[in-house]
Amino acid sequence: MKTLDWNTLFGERARRIQASTIRELLKLTQRPGVLSFAGGLPAPELFPKEEAAAKAAEILRQKGEVALQYGPTEGYFPLRAWVAEWLGVSPEEVLITTGSQQALDLLGKVFLDEGSPVLLEAPSYMGAIQAFRAYGPRFLTVPAGEEGPDLKALEEALNQEYPRFLYLIPSFQNPSGGLMPLEARRRLLEMAMERGLVVVEDDAYRELYFGESRLPSLFELAREAGYPGVIYLSSFSKVLAPGLRVAFVVARPEVILKFTQAKQGVDLHTPVLNQILVHELVKEGFPERLDRIRTTYKAKAQAMLEALDREMPKEVAYTRPKGGMFVWMTLPEGLSAEALFRQALEENVAFVPGGPFFANGGGENTLRLSYATMDRERIQEGIRRLGKAVKGLLAT
Ligand code: PMP
Repeated sequence: MKTLDWNTLFGERARRIQASTIRELLKLTQRPGVLSFAGGLPAPELFPKEEAAAKAAEILRQKGEVALQYGPTEGYFPLRAWVAEWLGVSPEEVLITTGSQQALDLLGKVFLDEGSPVLLEAPSYMGAIQAFRAYGPRFLTVPAGEEGPDLKALEEALNQEYPRFLYLIPSFQNPSGGLMPLEARRRLLEMAMERGLVVVEDDAYRELYFGESRLPSLFELAREAGYPGVIYLSSFSKVLAPGLRVAFVVARPEVILKFTQAKQGVDLHTPVLNQILVHELVKEGFPERLDRIRTTYKAKAQAMLEALDREMPKEVAYTRPKGGMFVWMTLPEGLSAEALFRQALEENVAFVPGGPFFANGGGENTLRLSYATMDRERIQEGIRRLGKAVKGLLAT
C-alpha cells in the first residue's frame, strides 16, 4: 500500500496556513496556577446565563420548528431588522455572520486574489491577518498607536498603491487599545473618498467605551457624507457571549449579496437558535446591560493600570486605554517579549507577545495584556508577578 504524505496533498492555500508559534506558546498558559492576561476572552461573570437558559427553553418550545430548521443565509430576519434599526440602516444592508471572524474570511474570499495589496495597521488583529493570509495577499502596513493609524504614512502608502481594501479597527484597537480621534476619522474618510477606497471598519469593541459616549464610526461619518465605500463589521461576542458566534456585516446591498453567496459555501447560515436567542436577549434591557459591561471593564482597566503604575520599572511604556479590553506594552528596544513570556511563565503569569500582530514583522519588544477575564485581585497579583519577570529580564 502506498503511504500518503498529507503535506504534499494539501493545496497551496493550506500551505499558507501555518501553525503559529504563539498558539503553541499560549497552550502553556492553560497550566493550572497561571494567571493569564493572554486571551481576549470576555468576562464570564457578564454572560447572561440564567436569562439565556430561560429564553432558549422558551424558544425551543414555542418556535422549535424555526429554531431547529435550516434558515436563510442572510440571517434570521427579526435579528437583521433589529440590527438595522440599531444602526440606522435597512435590513437588506445587514448580513448575520458566524462571528466577525467569518466576516473577515468572507472579505478575503470576496476581495482578495493572490498578490492583491491589502492595507492594514501595524499592529492589527491577529485573526484578521490570519484570515486574509490564506488568500495570499501582499500586506501593506502603516504604523498605528494610541490615536490609531499614522495618517501621514497612510497617505503615502495610498499615493503609491491602491489596495483592495484598508482594514481598520478605529475604536479600542486589538491589540493596541488605540482610539482614533474624531478629526482623524474625518481626514481618513476624505482620503478614502478622494480615491474611492474600500474601508473595512472592524468595530468589535464599539460599546466598550469608558467615557461619556462613543465616537461616530467611520461608517456613520461615511453615510453622512454619502460615501458607500465603508464595510462595517461588529459582533455580539463582546456584549453578550462569544460562544454564540453571532455577528454582522453592514454594507451596500450589492456587497451583502456577494458576501451572502460566499457564505453559502461556508456554512449555509449562522445557527438559527443562536440568532433567535440573541434577538430575544437584546430586545429588552440591552442599554442597561451595556452600561454594566462598560462599568465592569472600566474598573478592571483601572485595577490593571494601578498595578502597572506600582509594579513596572520606568523603562517600560504602556497605554492607558479609553475603552476595550487591552493594555499594550512596549519594552525597551532590543528586549524580546518572547523572552519575557518564558520568564513570566516561571512566575505563573502570561500575556501575548506582540510580534504576530505585525503582518510584515517587527514589534518583537511589544506585548498585549487583557484585563477582561480576571477579577481585580487576580489582575493585581498577575501584574505583580509580571513586574518581577520584567525586572528579572532587565537585569540580565
Ligand atoms: N475583530 C476583532 C478586532 C476582534 O478582536 C475579534 C475577537 N477577538 C474579532 C474580530 C472576532 O470576533 P467574533 O467573536 O465576532 O468572531
